[in-house]
Amino acid sequence: MIDLRSDTVTHPSAAMRRAMMDAEVGDDVLDGDPTTARLEERVARLFGQEAALFFPSGTQANQTAVWVLSESGTEVLLEENAHLIHYELGALAALAGVQARPVTTTDGILTPSAARRGWRRASRFLPRISMMAAENTHNASGGRLLPLECWDGLVRLADERRVPIHLDGARIWHAAVAADIPLERLTRGATTVMVSFSKGLGCPVGSCLVGGRDVLGRAWEIRKRLGGGMRQTGILAAACLYALDHHVERLEEDHRLARLLAHRLTDNEFVSAREPETNILMLELTGEMGSADAVSQLDAAGVRVVEFGSRTLRAVMHLDVAKDDVEQAADTIARVVDR
Ligand SMILES: *Cc1c(COP(=O)(O)O)cnc(C)c1O
Repeated sequence: MIDLRSDTVTHPSAAMRRAMMDAEVGDDVLDGDPTTARLEERVARLFGQEAALFFPSGTQANQTAVWVLSESGTEVLLEENAHLIHYELGALAALAGVQARPVTTTDGILTPSAARRGWRRASRFLPRISMMAAENTHNASGGRLLPLECWDGLVRLADERRVPIHLDGARIWHAAVAADIPLERLTRGATTVMVSFSKGLGCPVGSCLVGGRDVLGRAWEIRKRLGGGMRQTGILAAACLYALDHHVERLEEDHRLARLLAHRLTDNEFVSAREPETNILMLELTGEMGSADAVSQLDAAGVRVVEFGSRTLRAVMHLDVAKDDVEQAADTIARVVDR
C-alpha cells in the first residue's frame, strides 16, 4: 500500500524510538518533565516567543488558544475553510462559546483586505470580533503558503483593532522550508502559534502552543481542564526533539515529491493538478469518475488518497513515501481515472 491519505500516517523510525526510550522523564503535571521542558524552551526560542506548552494534539492546542484569547459570545474572524471551523467538531462554540466570522477567499489565503471586509461595523446589535486566526500552510486549499506580506498585514490589522491573533501553524515547518524564511520571522507578531509534530515531522504524538508567559499560564489551566495534562511526557517530547534535529530540513524532499506527482499527471486528460507549494497535492477529476469511486478503485489498486470534495482528491507526501512510491502512485492514478 502506498498511503498518501495524510502526513499523519507515518510510523516512528527506529532512531526516533531509541530517542524516546532513552528520554529522561518526570511528572509534567506535578513538577515538570525535564525533556518536555527542553522541548518547550527550544520551540519558544525557534519562534522568538517567551514560552511554549506541550499538548497531546493540535486541536486541543488550537482550542485552548481560542479559549484564552477570545471572549464568550463574540466572534473569531478567520478564513472560511479554516481547520478551526471544519475539522474540530464545533469546538469554537462548544468550548470557548464563540462563533466563527468566516471570510470567503478564492484560494484559502486570508488577505488583510479580505479580513478588513469581514470586520463588522461597530453596533450594539451585532456580535463583536474578539480575535483573529490564520492558517499557514493552509490545509484545505492544498498546503498553500500564506505570503509573508499577508501575515504582516493581518498582524497590523489585529493591532489596529486591538484584538489578539492566533496562527494555526500545524504545518508551519513546511512553510518555513518552502519560503526559506525563519520560523521567527514567518510568525512575528502572533499572540499565539500552534505547531504540530505529528504531521510532517513524523512524531507519534504532540503539538506545542507558543506565546507569551501570561497567555500560556492561562493555557496551562485550560489544558488541565480539558484533560490534556500528561505525566511522563518526556517520552513523547524526545521524539519531537529528534524530529527538530532530523526531520525539518528534509521537508523539501516531500515538497519535491508533491511536484513530481503533479508533473507526472500534467498531460492526463482525466485529472488536473495545480502546482503544489508544499507537501499537499489536490487532484481535480475532470472525466466521468467521481472522487468516491476513484478513492475505492485506487485503494483496490494499492494507492490510498482521501476524498476532499465530489471531484477532488487529496494526496499528501511524508516521511514514509519515497520517489519510487510516488512514481508508482502516478501510474496507478493515471490508469484508474482513465476508466
Ligand atoms: C491536523 C491539523 C490540526 C489539528 O491537529 P490534530 O493534532 O490532528 O488535532 C490543526 N490545524 C491544521 C491546519 C491541521 O492540518
